[in-house]
Amino acid sequence: MVLLPGFVDCHTHICFAGSRSRDYAMRIAGKSYLDIARAGGGIWDSVTKTRAATDTELMENVVARANRHLQEGVTTMEVKSGYGLDLASELKMLRAIRTADQYTPAEFVTTCLAAHIRPKDFDADEKAYLHWILHDLLPVLKEEHLTERVDIFVEETAFSVAAARPFLQAAKAMGFMLTVHADQFTSGGSALAVEVGALSADHLEASNAEDIRRLAVSDTVAVVLPGASMGLGMPYAPARKLLDAGASVAIASDWNPGSAPMGDLLMQAAVMSAAERLSAAEVFAALTFRAAKALGISSNAADLQAYPCADYREILYHQGKLKPSFVWKKARASDF
Ligand SMILES: [Zn+2]
Repeated sequence: MVLLPGFVDCHTHICFAGSRSRDYAMRIAGKSYLDIARAGGGIWDSVTKTRAATDTELMENVVARANRHLQEGVTTMEVKSGYGLDLASELKMLRAIRTADQYTPAEFVTTCLAAHIRPKDFDADEKAYLHWILHDLLPVLKEEHLTERVDIFVEETAFSVAAARPFLQAAKAMGFMLTVHADQFTSGGSALAVEVGALSADHLEASNAEDIRRLAVSDTVAVVLPGASMGLGMPYAPARKLLDAGASVAIASDWNPGSAPMGDLLMQAAVMSAAERLSAAEVFAALTFRAAKALGISSNAADLQAYPCADYREILYHQGKLKPSFVWKKARASDF
């Protein structure tokens, strides 16, 4: 057998209710983002369904997805809020994630993504909404020790760089670690992530040469999310260029109901490695210690997985279809 460290998935949205299969059907039939949003799809659809879900439903959904991840060798995973977008629902999500952590051997790192989109029922501009997060939500998260991390979606359809900058600076001053959804469709977010000292800038499909150079000379981990490219039918982030420039590149699943419902981290990394020409060493580094760095943790030495093959090259060669036969979290065997 081949023994590997447990994988770290440093970017997921596995706390959600409902399916977005209708969006996917519309997308593959050629409908635009706007057509889908007008038909009631998009992130807002997941917000509506997640708000309507009970605490128990949400918690059970997280446990089921975390256990599937664990079975596939992912022993530590980041889990974001961001489908609540009001005080009660963001708290419901973060509390459900905390409770779920007690019902799975997998380990969670939690992140507040209340700045996912400006909710349709918030009757003011983006600045006012971000102000609300800083002054009404984050203090409660601190008090309940629900998360130490804050994320924001910087994009034309979400939050502007101008509004995100003071938000991230203020969250940092409150003691939160930062991460940014950056450069998914347009450039701008990764420069801000580097400027404010974020642990990671995630997505980067639209990063330009200057963005790549800036990330390469920074301590910010460049997190690429091939699952979102597959789900949206869009080009991959320039992982090869980032590595060649000297950036620290992690690969994460972005497991979410809209753009990346598959959530198979190893399959996504293996398929991307062929397209972007990533070596086995670069892929396994991206799935272990570099992903851990993006979360501000060190890889856990006693998290291990064993693959049923004699040569490690079999693992990427099978494009994610070869799964571990055994997984150990903190040296304890998981029973599937
Ligand atoms: Zn995401």
